[in-house]
Amino acid sequence: MKLKYYEVDEKELLQEAKKGKRIAIKLPNGLSCYACKILSFLKNNGIDAIFLAESCYGACDFIFYDDIDRIICIGEAEMPYLCYKPPVSFIEAKYDFDVKFIEEALPFIEGRKVGIASITPFIHKIEECKKFIEEKGYKAFIGDKSRRTAYNGQILGCDISSATSIANNVDSFLFIGDGFFHPLALYIAVRKPVIVANPIEKKIYSKEIEEMAEKMIKKRYAHIAKATECEKFGIIVTKKIGQRRLQLANRLKKMLERHQKEAFLIFMNDINEAINYFDFDCYVSTACPRVAIDDADRYEKLILTPIEIEILLGERKWENYEFDQIL
Ligand code: SF4
Repeated sequence: MKLKYYEVDEKELLQEAKKGKRIAIKLPNGLSCYACKILSFLKNNGIDAIFLAESCYGACDFIFYDDIDRIICIGEAEMPYLCYKPPVSFIEAKYDFDVKFIEEALPFIEGRKVGIASITPFIHKIEECKKFIEEKGYKAFIGDKSRRTAYNGQILGCDISSATSIANNVDSFLFIGDGFFHPLALYIAVRKPVIVANPIEKKIYSKEIEEMAEKMIKKRYAHIAKATECEKFGIIVTKKIGQRRLQLANRLKKMLERHQKEAFLIFMNDINEAINYFDFDCYVSTACPRVAIDDADRYEKLILTPIEIEILLGERKWENYEFDQIL
């Protein structure tokens, strides 16, 4: 089945859907416009499914459900360490492409040792990309998967460990994928040149990543500086099983209180504009690390990452700024 640019294996979809009696499908934003198409396909094959029209930012974005006995999540790869209730079948949506287009990235690569990273719709091609680069005379490395990732070389917006594990062995990184969400995190985590080869656009981006990341870091420093005036902190904790960091939230609460700040936990699954109306001066998100970074402009109130709170309180030096990750 073709969904946008991506191919979904119909046989696998049916096989997984037949494993439950009360099935629901869950789709990331980019694929939710195909909900009816998928439900009709299942219906025509004797399976009456429900559309779980909730946020689906990743395999992390699940809570526990009572009235469903299996969820079919299309377009994400599983987070192997999580225990989903009910069980979730992850059906990936793959983008097929000819790896030869990455030849155009080669002039931008610094050094001869290259780390390769990618994301789910393209990760099935990572070994082929490695082979291609090696044929061009480079030494290519793919880092091992983590407990949160399904494949070697796969990175998430909150888990770059596959790349950081090989960062000392390489001069630069080649990211195979679309968008700047992942390569930005990659650059901030490894501080080495990151070249993006976008298989959908067949375009290469080089210096853009560094420029965007430096701009973003400056913005983060400005937010931290502004937060020095804040006294009342709300620490946001989510129930989403792959984003829940309650221990960290409690540690941050104690840390803030040690520094004579008022701090309270807020349980909130989907962080949204409601935080503008609560009477806190500043928030810290222990949920998805990207909320504070990528969605900051949506909020009138400041929202920091746990690492930024440490900097704010002088528990960590400014020069040791790190990208918040869930590892
Ligand atoms: S926590 Fe955020 S960045 Fe990490 S996988 Fe989930 S949605 Fe993506």
